[in-house]
Amino acid sequence: MTSSAEVVLGDFLGATLGGWRPTDQTQGVCANGAVRWQSLDEGVLLLEPARIDVTTRSVLLSAGVHGDETAPIELLSKIVADIAAGRLALACRVLVVLGNVNAMRVAKRYEDDDLNRLFGGRHARVPHSREAPRAVALEAAAQRFFAVASTTPGARWHLDMHTAIRASAFEQFALLPYTGGAPTRAMFDWLADARIAAVLIHTEKGATYSSFTADHCGATACTLELGKVRPFGENDLARFAHADAAVRRLVAGVTNGAEAVMPRVFTVIGQITKQSDAFALHVAADVPNFTPFARDTVLAEDGDYRYVVTHDEERIVFPNPTVKPGLRAGLLVVETTDETLAALV
Ligand SMILES: [Zn+2]
Repeated sequence: MTSSAEVVLGDFLGATLGGWRPTDQTQGVCANGAVRWQSLDEGVLLLEPARIDVTTRSVLLSAGVHGDETAPIELLSKIVADIAAGRLALACRVLVVLGNVNAMRVAKRYEDDDLNRLFGGRHARVPHSREAPRAVALEAAAQRFFAVASTTPGARWHLDMHTAIRASAFEQFALLPYTGGAPTRAMFDWLADARIAAVLIHTEKGATYSSFTADHCGATACTLELGKVRPFGENDLARFAHADAAVRRLVAGVTNGAEAVMPRVFTVIGQITKQSDAFALHVAADVPNFTPFARDTVLAEDGDYRYVVTHDEERIVFPNPTVKPGLRAGLLVVETTDETLAALV
């Protein structure tokens, strides 16, 4: 490979932040000829083994859909460097996506709109948003990538890596998009390998990137919340070591022989909806995600509207009283570990 490509693949994050985008030098080979690479868009890189067949897995790895969630972006850039240098074997097609590059440059979650609420065509509702064209581009990139992917069951994966703003009773957790079917054992085995402590299962379609690839690309998809947000260079990447190692095993097509503990599972059973500016959320502003509340607890009030806990225990996730009226101010989940693990397909 040429020296300029070597520099880009050796530091894909730095090159992307520095403004590198596909022009003339858009493809080549690396890893001593074992890997073909192709730059498809700003922050979008395709890596393929030299030999692929009809069963080869296709794995979309995305990070930075929220521009300030730096740790997974740094991990993903290091994975690119290790594949390009031949230090990490590549057994599947990989599409690397650095999501909101403009927001990454200014260390913000987003510029105008939360990119992870604009997928599934919702970008069309905010045509003037600076995030809208990026949502269009990332949908198209995923569809092109999976259009030529194997249709063997379990051959299409998408891991969208994030870090959360607030503390959590489970530091690392995954969100599974609604698919209409039971979750797969393959995904739960992978989440256990990554030492993900908890899984939240959505019961309605969402507008996230992982919801889009599950719905439109047939991907086994999840959103990973891997700890707290910090600036570039200030992440203790050791905290992400298990998830990083599990991503690398997926990419290399190897399995971990170690016994892994299945995550606990929580299913969405309701949401708190902000009705008006009189809305009052009766939980601490910094309440950790997955904090449990007992039956009959009044969690929110807004005029005649009240949210009262009706299960023995409900846990709150992503509480946010500052949303606009009409929008979701928090999700409520109940534990469904036993029945979910018994029904994996
Ligand atoms: Zn995020």
